Formats: sequence, C-alpha cells, structure tokens
Amino acid sequence: MSIEVSGITKLYGSQKALNNISFKIEKPEVVGFLGPNGAGKSTMMKILTTYISPNEGHAIVNGFDVNTNKQQVQKSVGYLPEHNPLYLDMYIKEYLTFNAEVYQIEKQRINEVIELTGLTPEAHKKIGQLSKGYRQRVGLANAILHNPDVLILDEPTTGLDPNQLIDIRNLIKTIGKTKTILLSTHIMQEVEAMCDRVIIINKGEIVANKKLKELRNEKQQVVIVEFDYRVEDAFLLKLPKVNQVKNTHDFVYEITFDTTQDMRSHVFDFAHDNALKILQLNQKNSSLENLFRDLTN
Ligand code: ADP
Ligand code: MG
Repeated sequence: MSIEVSGITKLYGSQKALNNISFKIEKPEVVGFLGPNGAGKSTMMKILTTYISPNEGHAIVNGFDVNTNKQQVQKSVGYLPEHNPLYLDMYIKEYLTFNAEVYQIEKQRINEVIELTGLTPEAHKKIGQLSKGYRQRVGLANAILHNPDVLILDEPTTGLDPNQLIDIRNLIKTIGKTKTILLSTHIMQEVEAMCDRVIIINKGEIVANKKLKELRNEKQQVVIVEFDYRVEDAFLLKLPKVNQVKNTHDFVYEITFDTTQDMRSHVFDFAHDNALKILQLNQKNSSLENLFRDLTN
C-alpha cells in the first residue's frame, strides 16, 4: 500500500479544511487530486508529507504512520510544495548538493537527477536565471533526490507556458512509471493528460475516486430515443459506432455509442429509413468535465 488515508479531519481554528477524508492508493500509479481553490488539496498534501498534523484520523505512507513515524514517512516521500521555494542565488548544482548533504545522499545521485529532469543544458546556471518551467524541474529534481517511492506534487504545472507544460507533464509521466505520484491540480485537462486515477475533493470532502479508464468509458455517449413502435435490438445495433442497445421500457431505447460526436442525427436518419416516428430524442454525456462540474457546484 502506497498511501492509506482514513478519517482525516483538519481544522484551522474553527474552520474545517478536511472533513473525514479516506482514500487508498495501492500500487505505483499517477493519481490526480482535483478540486477547486480552497478545497483542501494542499492541506491534505501537507499532512501526507508530515508538515502539519491532522486533528483526527490516520494516514499511512509507504507503510509508515504520519502521526507516529514522521522520519520514515519523510524518507519515503518526495514533495514539491505549491510555491516551490528555491534559493534564487544558488546554482542548480549547489542547491542540490546542499540538500543531498542534508539528507546524506551520495554525490553521484545529483548528476543522475539533473540528467533525469532534463536540467543538463542549464546545469551551470543560477536558479534565478531559470524560466519557471526549469525552476519546476529543479523542484522535481530536489523531490526525487533521495529516490522516494512516493511523490507528492502540489500544482506542479501552475504558471507554466504551454511548452513548459508539455515538458513537465511528460517528465511526471516518465517518473510515474516506477513511483506512486499524487499530484494536485484544479485543471481537468491536466488529469486527463497525466493520471491513471482521479480523486475529486470539494469543500474538504472526497466526492469522487475513479480510474480514468472508467471515466473514459463513461465518456461514451448515450442517446435515449422513443419510437412509436417496437424495434428489434439487432436493428439498432447496425447504427454506426454503437456499443450497446437497451430497451428500457415500452418503445424507449438507450443506445450507447463509443464516440462523443453527437449521434442523434444518425438515430433520426435510422427512424426515417425505417418508417418509424420519433417521440423523443435526448443525449446524455458524462466526461470528467461534467463530473467535476456536477460534483463541485
Ligand atoms: P487548496 O490547496 O485546495 O486550494 P487549501 O488546503 O490550501 O486548499 O485550503 C483549504 C482551506 O483551508 C481554505 O479555505 C484555506 O483558506 C484554509 N487554510 C489553508 N491553510 C490555512 C492556514 N494555515 N490557516 C488558516 N486557514 C487555512
Ligand atoms: Mg493548494
């Protein structure tokens, strides 16, 4: 088990930032922690990295309890905080060497992470001279310095331009092949681009926890049609891109298509060609975007 959170509640004064949160991440995967601003994402991440303690509940990271075994948790976790704090006057190598010494990591690893994060061409520069995208790479390099099994990345792509965004996404995907990554974002496309699973948080509560694969299936389109007469399922299965036909009641059919393209006109043509009249015709579509809107509004 990489991360196991059970019944976590966090109060700031009288304000509940997290309310009885539970979720599990069982194996190396990239999980998107998605939610509007103020939902509690950073708070949860600070608990998982032992920067703050919960008021109630437990969180186990890589087998260690954040409440009772902070040091082991810290050894297991790489953390990129939301406002990646860097020493702008330091050279990349200086900065990484400094942190490597703090964590007693052999020098060899510094060159490795510089290479891994694509910093080699900029390695001679001061952090202050770097673009935002390259500063994020330095943050990532620092987070993976001690080769942790779990990475907690708090809005790793916020503020990047489109090219930097793609580079950092690819980098995270590459790193994610061998590690468990929990990354927060308020951007849905981010989750689509990088994650195997999404956990949606709203007002301190988990409102969804789903594999992207399942969501993509849900992205299938369902057309609900009512004819004036009975139609054999086999007939409707001849429609283009059709996946499934269900006669829900009377002459009402739920037709699932493997496409997001609006298929209603095809259903209309079908009815026309078969001398059927349409009494109702509706389309249902549930993408991540709709799910997010439904759950956080
Ligand atoms: P997110 O990262 O999803 O934007 P946060 O975890 O930063 O959300 O914040 C959750 C809620 O807790 C917000 O309402 C925020 O204002 C509040 N909060 C966060 N940190 C503190 C703090 N140190 N003191 C008081 N309130 C805080
Ligand atoms: Mg935050």
